[in-house]
Amino acid sequence: MPTYDYDLVTIGAGSGGVRATRLAATYGKRAAVVEEYRVGGTCVIRGCVPKKLLVYASRYSEDFVDAAAFGWHVPHHEFNWQTLIANKDKEIARLEAAYRRNLGAAGAEIFEDRAVLRDPHTVHLLKSDKTITAETVLIATGGRPWIPDSVDGGDLAITSNEAFHLEKLPHTVMVVGGGYIAIEFAGIFVGLGARTTLVHHGDEILRGFDREVRTQMHHELQKRGVDVLIKSAVASIRREGARKRVRMVDGTEHLVDEIMFAVGRRPNTMGIGLEHCGVEMNERRAVLVDKYSRSTQPNIYAVGDVTDRVNLTPVAIREGAAFAETLYNNAPTTVDHADIPTAVFGTPEIGAVGLTEDVACAKYKNIDIYRTAFRPMRATMSGRDTQIFMKIVVDADSDRVLGCHIVGEAAAEMIQCVAIAVKMKATKADFDATVALHPTAGEELVLLRTKVKATA
Ligand code: NDP
Repeated sequence: MPTYDYDLVTIGAGSGGVRATRLAATYGKRAAVVEEYRVGGTCVIRGCVPKKLLVYASRYSEDFVDAAAFGWHVPHHEFNWQTLIANKDKEIARLEAAYRRNLGAAGAEIFEDRAVLRDPHTVHLLKSDKTITAETVLIATGGRPWIPDSVDGGDLAITSNEAFHLEKLPHTVMVVGGGYIAIEFAGIFVGLGARTTLVHHGDEILRGFDREVRTQMHHELQKRGVDVLIKSAVASIRREGARKRVRMVDGTEHLVDEIMFAVGRRPNTMGIGLEHCGVEMNERRAVLVDKYSRSTQPNIYAVGDVTDRVNLTPVAIREGAAFAETLYNNAPTTVDHADIPTAVFGTPEIGAVGLTEDVACAKYKNIDIYRTAFRPMRATMSGRDTQIFMKIVVDADSDRVLGCHIVGEAAAEMIQCVAIAVKMKATKADFDATVALHPTAGEELVLLRTKVKATA
């Protein structure tokens, strides 16, 4: 039996990698994690957490409007980007320190280095030119943003990675993409006062979300002043003084301070030696794994975005935990990827769980749809033009609630709770039997009585 330096070496100290390594160490294993950037990964360092802080900042512009209608004297107010970024950086540093402390307290080692696999059990640490061996290797390297090669001058554009560290708030910004990051950053930029254009190549933003949610969000973005260009694409970017001239495929031009691409993220699998270790990847270079997150090389596992299953932080954390339970706690554990709630922290935000109307109609014979839209109470006094949209998708035969979709204030908070009911296979009758909590927006979810559509 060969002896190794470690029972587990994890490559990548993001959400999934940290959870797996920490648990392995807690179960008494010799565990180490190698990270070339900062401990915490995308979510903590340049994703979910700093993004939400910027979202909070951007929403004050609407709060000022509402406050005045509630009788507050709102004096001239100014936003300072440098203060926001400095305070955000302080908070992220605090979180990173907590992640490091927790790993250390569990007995795990951290190597601040870049890892390359020499063979399935040997990890070369590039910066320190050191080699360590491991019985098991866990790939948790996440994903990375990309800019299409087809864009001439694409190196002049930024991605979300750089957006968190801009020296100043751009006056004029173009965001390319129609998914989570593009919608969230369009809301951040416009809320903070930037003239914002959203460019999307498809015929509607947010593919994969419910059809009505997509159009609702499109309108809400426009109401806030975002110029939404659909079926549109960037051809080239040229520097023009301190600004950038963006030429679109249709020949139109825009002069902007920044252009940010948010056109998806790719599995971060380049240059870590997976090819030579028998680890198979799909055409997107995502690591292929079984339900226990084991790759095609038996001692190499992978969790999180690098496997391109459901690319969300809580899913990576679950996959990391399931890996550790399976290998180090004698408790084979798989992750159920069904009915995972999700949110897009645009302004307003989207919360969704379960099936969209279209998917439900394709899967089930008889579908009932319940829907409502109304102005949130907080905006009634100011007359701010926004709506909360809610939709419930029900299997008419079993009465089971298959999906719930919300656009509007606190949608994410509501959907987290609704997700419990959906996961428990609650019926529409269960929703109806729940007494409303008044006055809230959420009460509408238990007061929806009129079918707006039935496929039966
Ligand atoms: P998404 O997959 O959400 O969206 C990518 C967008 O880019 C889509 O609108 C897509 O359009 C478009 N696109 C794809 N290829 C091109 C191209 N070549 N040219 C122009 N547009 C293109 O990716 P994001 O980058 O927004 O986010 C990455 C992932 O990170 C998300 O999928 C999500 O899993 C996660 N995330 C989660 C968040 C949350 O939970 N709140 C927040 C941020 C990220 P189409 O699909 O119509 O082809």
